[in-house]
Amino acid sequence: MLVCCTHKRMHACPMEADMNYVLPLFLLCAIACSSKMVYAFEKDIIATSSGDLEITFIGHGSLMMKVNNIVVHVDPYGALADYALLPKADVLLITHEHRDHLDPGAIDKIRTADTKVYLSAACAEKLSGGTIMKNGDTESVSGIGIEAVPAYNLVHRRDSGEPYHPKGRGNGYVLTVGGKRLYIAGDTENIPEMKALKNIEIAFLPMNLPYTMTPDMVADAARTFKPHILYPYHYGDTDTSLIVKLLKNDAGIDVRIRRMK
Ligand SMILES: [Zn+2]
Repeated sequence: MLVCCTHKRMHACPMEADMNYVLPLFLLCAIACSSKMVYAFEKDIIATSSGDLEITFIGHGSLMMKVNNIVVHVDPYGALADYALLPKADVLLITHEHRDHLDPGAIDKIRTADTKVYLSAACAEKLSGGTIMKNGDTESVSGIGIEAVPAYNLVHRRDSGEPYHPKGRGNGYVLTVGGKRLYIAGDTENIPEMKALKNIEIAFLPMNLPYTMTPDMVADAARTFKPHILYPYHYGDTDTSLIVKLLKNDAGIDVRIRRMK
């Protein structure tokens, strides 16, 4: 079955073979390949007072988390995974309206009538039925606290002079799960509001250039608000070894590189 998952073998299925045999075999191959896709994602487990928090690293800016059987999806993006194969969302967070963060096709596959959606006002123009959060707003759902925090560019701009992410438009989110605070920065630079964050256990900071932060900006922010665990995410082609080197003497910050290109 596994051998069948190579494209070569799939194409080598003998034409003269009995179709009654080939069709089930093809389906088995498809299921095996699909399962492989689901289980190929890296996962980390973080202990909290509400039980284990399981973080699944989908890629780019897309994350999935599970605690107490509550599934939280963040910025699902269909280019990274077949979301039809992933667990449905109890909670869905969208940081901003760019297409790699707000993907209606991926959302359709994980959203149910019971999914609670939290998003910015600009996202709500493209996706209906969610709760709009402005920077500074707070919500609580299924025992998870949600705080929308600013996410914007200070220096990186389009040729027109407009920042890639203007202030006040997008959100980062600070989630409180079982007493631990987890910061998902969204697309942003090392803004003062980020540096003022307190008691962050886990931080996801973007490093995709030119839209978000350089490794130096990430290091500057991390040294200021001191997350215990730092996951560079949404890093595109930026060399992740640079942030590891920059923070190698900052013993209180555990820099973890996962497949979040
Ligand atoms: Zn963006």
